[in-house]
Amino acid sequence: MWIDGKSVPARSGKTFLRESPGHGITVGEYPLADRHDVDSAVAAARRAFDTGPWPLLSGADRSKVLWQTAEIIRARKEDLALTETLESGKPIKQARDEMEWSAALWDYAGALCRHLHGDSYNSLGSQVLALTVREPIGVVAMITPWNFPLLIISQKLPFALAAGCSAVIKPSELTPGTTLKLGEILAEAGLPDGVVNIVSGYGDPSGIALSEHPEIDMISFTGSTEVGKAVVGASQRNLKKVELELGGKNPHLVFADADLEAALDAVVFGVYFNMGECCNSGSRLLVQNDIADEFVSRVIETAKRIPVGDPLDERTKIGAIIDENQFNKILGYIESGNRAGARLRVGGGQLPQVTGRFIEPTVFDAVQPEMAIAREEIFGPVLSILTFDTKEEAIRIANSTIYGLSAGVWTRDIDTAFAVSRGIRAGTIWINTFMDGYPELCFGGFKQSGLGRELGRFSIEEFTELKSIQVHLGPRTNLWAR
Ligand code: NDP
Repeated sequence: MWIDGKSVPARSGKTFLRESPGHGITVGEYPLADRHDVDSAVAAARRAFDTGPWPLLSGADRSKVLWQTAEIIRARKEDLALTETLESGKPIKQARDEMEWSAALWDYAGALCRHLHGDSYNSLGSQVLALTVREPIGVVAMITPWNFPLLIISQKLPFALAAGCSAVIKPSELTPGTTLKLGEILAEAGLPDGVVNIVSGYGDPSGIALSEHPEIDMISFTGSTEVGKAVVGASQRNLKKVELELGGKNPHLVFADADLEAALDAVVFGVYFNMGECCNSGSRLLVQNDIADEFVSRVIETAKRIPVGDPLDERTKIGAIIDENQFNKILGYIESGNRAGARLRVGGGQLPQVTGRFIEPTVFDAVQPEMAIAREEIFGPVLSILTFDTKEEAIRIANSTIYGLSAGVWTRDIDTAFAVSRGIRAGTIWINTFMDGYPELCFGGFKQSGLGRELGRFSIEEFTELKSIQVHLGPRTNLWAR
């Protein structure tokens, strides 16, 4: 683990192993944290925050550390991408892209270090001047999932550091490798000891211990909606601030007047990227009835051609499923689609490569909005296709889940594009594109997809408290006890 600027074993001496989902061999052995290790990590983060120097440095000095971190991530891209692929099963090319996106977030947050400002009030009367200042919220716990390990921690940590916070991180026990390497990278970049601490281990007990911990001021969680709710419950112990990035069942709407060639590619990318293990996965295709038959046939033809296999093969576009639980969950949803009367048009089965933990790109059509495969997050390479006649009907179906993370709309009609963008209750809308992202644009969910926002200039504010400072100028009149 990484505690107080040092690589340390668990206090119990216990470890756990990680096996590559695509190769079936052991690729990592990590310390198994318990509550004592969490306490040590929190104590180090608390000291680093309460006694400095990090929160007291100028924004300019903090930015140097963040920019240097971005540089080292780029320099170590191959090593980090390999770790990510071996632990997560994702294709190596996609892992390399993830390292570039992560570095870009450190760059952007580096610039934000110098933009943490508040308001001044010079209109409160001749004897008053007041300021509203932003201060770092304190020690932030960050709990992250396994699907984009370095990217997701890079959506949180640099912004918290930019604000002057310290942190304790618990990556998923399935993919701790790159997050632990980030500890070394930060030390090399000049981050003072104790500002970032990383504990490797399971949600129970480490994640729970962090969520409950009285010495933590804020928790930033990315993961499932179900665990997010448990984190909110545990956080009540000391009323810590909670920021949540949770699941999605994102609709991809294709209207008859769209550039169908471009839409086709985006639909297939949107659902099969990262094996569909993606909160932004475009797992529901809503296609206008006039073009449905032809468009769906083309989606099926394209899905059949996508190379599935060894994550280390440069040609692979769909790698291995993360673990046995997730694998069985996906197959369970495929079975549920069949049982509910949706039509399985392609895929639906397991591929026999090495570990056997590969699932064919799968397409269901004739899906009804009330079916589980239309409403619930599958987190696998499974596309559920529904149809609509009017934009009002499309918006109604798009909004008919508990989630509201993102949505895509394909049309050449600007009125339709904006009516849909306004009508869909989701944190991100893509018009004639899908799953693009920029550090400048905030990201987060409506409804049960989350609380708060990451990225963009507002994200640094999530990691701050507001404080009002009032100054009385000149002699005091109107004394109360007089
Ligand atoms: P989980 O919710 O199962 O786990 C997320 C993290 O929480 C892991 O580190 C996990 O540890 C930990 N954890 C588990 N139980 C608890 C608990 N009771 N208290 C505190 N922490 C706990 O999600 P997955 O890792 O399975 O990731 C998939 C989910 O993440 C999907 O639902 C997906 O939509 C969502 N996600 C959302 C994103 C977004 O930005 N909106 C982005 C990426 C994923 P352990 O691994 O040991 O269980």
